[in-house]
Amino acid sequence: MNISKDTVVQFHYTLKDDKGELIESTAGKDPMAYLHGHSNIIPGLEKALEGKAVGDSFTVTVEPKDGYGPRQENAMQRISLKHLQGARKWKPGMMAFVETDKGYRQVTVVKVGKFNADVDTNHPLAGKTLVFDIQVADIREASAEEKSHGHAHGVGGHHH
Ligand code: ZN
Repeated sequence: MNISKDTVVQFHYTLKDDKGELIESTAGKDPMAYLHGHSNIIPGLEKALEGKAVGDSFTVTVEPKDGYGPRQENAMQRISLKHLQGARKWKPGMMAFVETDKGYRQVTVVKVGKFNADVDTNHPLAGKTLVFDIQVADIREASAEEKSHGHAHGVGGHHH
């Protein structure tokens, strides 16, 4: 079976920037799971996974335009502390999640006040060229429920 639209794919990855600095990895953790063909993952990665089979491993370099986009200047926003999720006490430099109409968005805390925080809404990986080492761990047909939700359930996917 090969990766195509409406398959649920599990894969391990190690992500480095173009200078070889480690950013994140699933080594020793559950693989990442996603529903192929539904823009669950960045376009450059989804395109590279198309047609691959279980056991395939490869390296793909993703430019910002196929990744998290360019960094935007003036991406600062003031947000009420009660809308920041991921920690109880906030300090500059910490990552937070904010719920938006497009789902959860990762932001970086820049300044913390008594009731509000200034956050940079650029994705932390915006503007970066990303180098992924990928290993495909599992491929299966998506369930009807997963297709209607537009995401994968189970290990590495959504739980609800
Ligand atoms: Zn769901």
